[in-house]
Amino acid sequence: MSANDYKVTVIGGGIGGYVSAIRAAQLGARVALIERADLGGTCLNVGCIPTKVLLHTAELYEELKHADELGLELENKPKVNWQKLQTRRVSIINKLVKGVEMLLKSNNITLIRGEASFLDNKSIKVRLSDGKEEVINSEYFVIATGSEPMIPPIKGSDLEGVIDSTKALCSEKLPEEVVIIGGGVIGIEFASVYSSFGTKVTMIEMMPKLGQSIDSDVAAMLAANMEKSGIQIQTSAKVVGIEKKDGRLCVKYELNGEDKFAYGDNVLISTGRKPVTTGLQTENAKIAVSNRGFINIDSNMKTNVKNIYAVGDVTGKIMLAHVAEEQGIVAVENMLLGSNKTINYDIVPGCLYTKPEVAYVGITEDEAKNRGIDYETGMFPLVNNGKTLITGDVENTFIKVVTDKKYDEIIGISIYGPRATEMISEFSLGINLEVTVDELIETIHPHPTVSEGLKEAVLAVKKQAIHSM
Ligand code: FAD
Repeated sequence: MSANDYKVTVIGGGIGGYVSAIRAAQLGARVALIERADLGGTCLNVGCIPTKVLLHTAELYEELKHADELGLELENKPKVNWQKLQTRRVSIINKLVKGVEMLLKSNNITLIRGEASFLDNKSIKVRLSDGKEEVINSEYFVIATGSEPMIPPIKGSDLEGVIDSTKALCSEKLPEEVVIIGGGVIGIEFASVYSSFGTKVTMIEMMPKLGQSIDSDVAAMLAANMEKSGIQIQTSAKVVGIEKKDGRLCVKYELNGEDKFAYGDNVLISTGRKPVTTGLQTENAKIAVSNRGFINIDSNMKTNVKNIYAVGDVTGKIMLAHVAEEQGIVAVENMLLGSNKTINYDIVPGCLYTKPEVAYVGITEDEAKNRGIDYETGMFPLVNNGKTLITGDVENTFIKVVTDKKYDEIIGISIYGPRATEMISEFSLGINLEVTVDELIETIHPHPTVSEGLKEAVLAVKKQAIHSM
């Protein structure tokens, strides 16, 4: 075996890639990981982590706006220092990226910095950062090349000041006014940060509601709270074009057959992401790709080529870090242990780190209806929950459970309230283990916590909620 021969070669050092590499090394394989930019990929550098750094400060800032109510006297009014916040963002990212590098080292994974492209199904060429080229041979490959912002063909989308999420995170100053095109998770989180920090926000969404995967009741209450905080939301609105007018950007959109206009110093386009496969030369290894450019995989994460697997955003399943991570583990275990592991995409939790937060897992009421399931729902308003009252997030917040009548089983839950993103894992486990309504009811939840509300929502299915009329 030559120095350039590996058992497993992972292309892409984002969360899908580095987790695959670590699991393969744990299973005794000789592993190489190829990364052309920063380790940690989208999630660590321009996705999950930096957005949450901003959202965390935005949440604290929101709390401090009510300092008086909270019994706090501040010497001075708190002010946002965007530059300091940027320094904090960079410092947190650097720590995490270094952590990934150390994990690779401690697992004896060879990190090769460069851009990979397939020569055939057993070898790749890596264009190294110093311009040289290296050929790597491998028994197996994992493609984990991720995704990048997808900018739709809107006239004017190339104008200065029109940005994507990556540029928004690194911008030098906060805009005074921003128009956000796209009301998905990323758009909503940015709207929340901007609005908390005093930027005037207009959000334009083509569909009739925000956040397509979110339960309709949650989406409605979330939109109501966003509007209350000053964000202007236009749903069922189609953007026609962007142009510069008197130094500002003007977004023209159609609403109910009428032309409307929204203005901003910046226009943030958050209309989805596309797979990264350019330069990879998948055709040399005869890897099948969908018409939208995603790499086709079967339920075991295997591509049509038997020694090549793909994980993460590039597969176009659910574009979330925890999905990429799980796909990585499943792919490598199937590859090296010959197991037949799959992922149940129905029980992937989804989270929005707004204030208050949104979290959901399983199927929504709309989806239960679509699938023709005989279902029941239970709802618990968090205004009746002591801990929520203490946090102050009682406006329009609630927990909603969907159960399957036939099996008395919990099949979905949506939480709109404080700590939602931390609480959702109880139900991920519950739904995974096919927990019944009675089993959940018998589970004692501590007091005072927001999680008591989970039990109350389930009790509400049986019309037995204690703290609800
Ligand atoms: P990536 O993280 O994109 O990594 C792919 C890597 O491959 C990159 O580092 C790239 O440089 C490298 N690469 C590409 N081509 C080559 C090549 N030819 N050779 C070598 N290297 C290559 N998800 C959550 O779960 N929670 C969140 O809160 C969340 N927030 C988000 C916020 C934003 C603003 C965005 C944009 C995304 C967010 N996501 C979130 C989604 C999450 O970031 C992605 O699902 C996740 O990063 C996908 O991981 P990945 O490994 O598939 O790809």
